[in-house]
Amino acid sequence: MKEIILLKEGEIALKGLNKRQFEEAFIKNLRHRLKPLGKFEYTRAQSLIYCIPRDDDIDMDEAVSRAEKVFGAVAICRAAVTEKNMDSISAAAIEYCGEELEYARTFKVCAKRSDKGFPLNSPQICMELGGILSEKFPHLTVDVKNPQVTVNVEIRDTAAYIHTGNRPAAGGIPVGTSGKAMLLLSGGIDSPVAGYMMAKRGIDISAIHYVSPPYTSERALMKVEQLCEKISPYCGDTAFYCVPFTEIQEALRDNCPEELFTILMRRIMMEIAQRICEANGISALITGESVGQVASQTMGAIVCTDAACRMPVFHPVIGMDKTEIVEIARKIDTFDISIQPYEDCCTVFTPKHPKTKPSLAEVEAAQNSFDFEPLISKAVEETVKKVIKVGG
Ligand code: ATP
Ligand code: MG
Repeated sequence: MKEIILLKEGEIALKGLNKRQFEEAFIKNLRHRLKPLGKFEYTRAQSLIYCIPRDDDIDMDEAVSRAEKVFGAVAICRAAVTEKNMDSISAAAIEYCGEELEYARTFKVCAKRSDKGFPLNSPQICMELGGILSEKFPHLTVDVKNPQVTVNVEIRDTAAYIHTGNRPAAGGIPVGTSGKAMLLLSGGIDSPVAGYMMAKRGIDISAIHYVSPPYTSERALMKVEQLCEKISPYCGDTAFYCVPFTEIQEALRDNCPEELFTILMRRIMMEIAQRICEANGISALITGESVGQVASQTMGAIVCTDAACRMPVFHPVIGMDKTEIVEIARKIDTFDISIQPYEDCCTVFTPKHPKTKPSLAEVEAAQNSFDFEPLISKAVEETVKKVIKVGG
């Protein structure tokens, strides 16, 4: 049986004069995600986007699984497509919804008719199809208030669609409609979630990761690449920048007060990220910080880190508990990768007693006591030489 995917617009529907632009971005992202599965055509009507397969052998389970991760729709369903007459509609409803009806005790039919030329009106469609289904499945009773299965019939311009209801889709607004930001992506639980959350608000994300070989391993880097891959069904293709950070960390260890090591390191991370952003038209940074989670994420530490930034820093998980972050990490399937025990550069040379209430003046004085500039420029230069593209 011929099927299509229907996506119900969320916030896009409220965009007034800009709606078309948002719809186009949404369709562009859908097209990109579904293209490897075969040919689809896209149309829109009344805040619905129709993905219509044009090849016969398309894996529709996979298509739905991909489409439901593309930000911009609040609900998704797959529907059978039939001709616009009651015989075809009844036959299709029996075939397409039969299995669910077989196992249910109660049902109802819900009809919508946007093609007013169709000879029956909505209540008449419900009556007729309800009668046919009751005859075919005599164990069923009609329950209009709380049915176990709702058979939806939509009579539209070119065809009739039959389905048993929506499920939630990704929500958000289409990636690419809110500008570009750089995600500081570690191997941990929080930063992939932070990237996912900002992509949900339409931001096109690039990722940057700092490595300190030989203190951090090739496996640790692979883990972060895997995380980047995991969030790409939501975030789209991602440019991945890998920063060689060993020399900077060694210089910090050898030249700065131990208790300020982490804060200084984080300020230099921000500086490197910003330079790469500025050279690539990226206008904000994203981190996975959550207030109070660890010593480097106290208010005082965040103030000192953000003070090193010329551009806005988004911390979307800032007010969330770890359990709330973990819940999202499980949902987007990054959790199992994040908990693999590989070292991060942030755990290299960690001070025994990091300062939790540093003053900005002492942090700046410590940073100015050594000339990091040549090391920072070198790290930026080496990073931009080998950027990779992840996902799709
Ligand atoms: P996460 O779970 O995201 O690793 P965390 O709780 O371990 O966070 P920190 O290690 O203090 O926290 O790092 C805070 C933030 O700094 C991270 O969320 C991430 O955005 C960034 N970060 C830490 N280490 C790296 C790294 N090696 N490369 C890129 N960004 C990093
Ligand atoms: Mg971490």
